[in-house]
Amino acid sequence: MEQVRNDFVALYGSEPEGVWAAPGRVNLIGEHTDYNDGFVMPFALPHTTVAAVSRRTDGRLRLHSADIEGGVVELDAAALEPGTDHDWTAYPAGVVWALREAGHPVTGADVHLASTVPSGAGLSSSAALEVVIALALNDLYELGIPGWKLARLCQRAENVYVGAPTGIMDQTASACCEAGHALFLDTRDLSQKQIPFDLAAEGMRLLVVDTRVKHAHSDGEYGKRRAGCEKGAALLGVDALRDVAHDELDAELERLGELGGDEEVRRLVRHVVTEDHRVERVVALLEAGRTREIGPVLTEGHASLRDDFRISCPELDTVVDAALAAGALGARMTGGGFGGSAIVLAEAADVETITKAVQEAFAAASFTAPRVFEAVPAPGARRLG
Ligand code: ADP
Ligand code: MG
Repeated sequence: MEQVRNDFVALYGSEPEGVWAAPGRVNLIGEHTDYNDGFVMPFALPHTTVAAVSRRTDGRLRLHSADIEGGVVELDAAALEPGTDHDWTAYPAGVVWALREAGHPVTGADVHLASTVPSGAGLSSSAALEVVIALALNDLYELGIPGWKLARLCQRAENVYVGAPTGIMDQTASACCEAGHALFLDTRDLSQKQIPFDLAAEGMRLLVVDTRVKHAHSDGEYGKRRAGCEKGAALLGVDALRDVAHDELDAELERLGELGGDEEVRRLVRHVVTEDHRVERVVALLEAGRTREIGPVLTEGHASLRDDFRISCPELDTVVDAALAAGALGARMTGGGFGGSAIVLAEAADVETITKAVQEAFAAASFTAPRVFEAVPAPGARRLG
C-alpha cells in the first residue's frame, strides 16, 4: 500500500485521499452458470489490485497503472463513450461511465494502481480493477451504493463499455467475498450466502495452477456457448436453463431432442443443469462439515466442462489428470476455459508431491511451466487507508 501511495504522490504531486484494494477470485464450482441464471461459488484470492485515488472537480479522469508501460492517460469524464477506449483504461473509464450513466455525480479522479492479480489467467484481474475503482469512487463521492450494486455497475462497465460479455460472478466475488468463506451466489436474484470454507483448519489445501495459456474471454467460443444455452432454454420454453429441474434432466434432454435441439445444444444444457446441481451439492457438503467429499464433485465438474461444454484444453486436462494421479482429492479447470487456471483440492501432506507431479507432467508434454500457488479465502474489496 505504501508503494502505491508514494507512487501516487510522485505522479500527481499530492497525497491521495485514500487507498483501496479489491481481490481477484477463483470459482470453487459453478462454471458457465452465471449467464443461465444459475448458481456460482467463488472465493476471493489474497491477490489484490490496489488503487490510490483522489477526486477532481474539473471533469478530468487521470489514470495510471504500475503494471502497464506508458504514462498517465487523461480522459474527460463527461465525454466517455462505450467502444472508444481499446486498452486497459477502458475498465476504470467504464466504471466512471457506468456510475455517471446511473446518475451519480462523479466529476473526475486521479488514479494510480498496482496489482498482484495475474492478468488473463482466469482469476479476474479485470473485475478486481473495476471493483477497486468503483469502491474508491463510492467512498469518496459518498454515493452509498451497496457492494452487490457496485458489482452490477462494474459488470455493465465490462459488458457495455469494454465490450466483454461476462456474467455477474466476478465482480460480485471481488466486491462481496469474506475471508474464510466461499460465496454462494444465486445469479438470478443476486441473493448471497457466505459458506465457511477454512481448509487449513481441516488439514487441506487448495492449489491454483495457472497454466499460462491465455484465455480469450470475449472471443467467439464464449459467445457460441452462450447462444447455445439460450437456444436450449428457448426450445424448452423456460426463461433460463436454471429452470430445468435436475431430477427431470433425462426426460428434458429427450424432449429437447424432439423439439429440434441438436446434440451440441443437449450437451450444453446437460452441463449447465448438472453444474447447478453440483454447486448445491458442494454447499450441502460444506454446511454438513463433509469438506473432503467435495473433491469428487469438483472432478465431475471438470469432466462436464471437458466433455459436455467442451471448453477445456490439453494444459488444463494435464493439471487435473496429473493432480488426481498424485493423490489429489479433486481437481477442475476454473474460469471461462480454453486456458487460464485449474484448482486442486489436496491433503496438506500431499501438496508437494502433487505440485511436483503437475510440473513434471507439464515438462513431459513440453508445455510452459505452470505457476502454482496456494489459495486461502481472503476478504473482498475494502478501504486500506
Ligand atoms: P482476467 O480478468 O481473467 O485477468 P481479462 O482479459 O478479463 O482477464 O482482463 C485482463 C485485462 O484487464 C488486461 O488485459 C488489462 O487490460 C486489464 N487489467 C487487469 N489488471 C490490470 C492492471 N493492474 N493494470 C492495468 N490493466 C489491468
Ligand atoms: Mg476478466
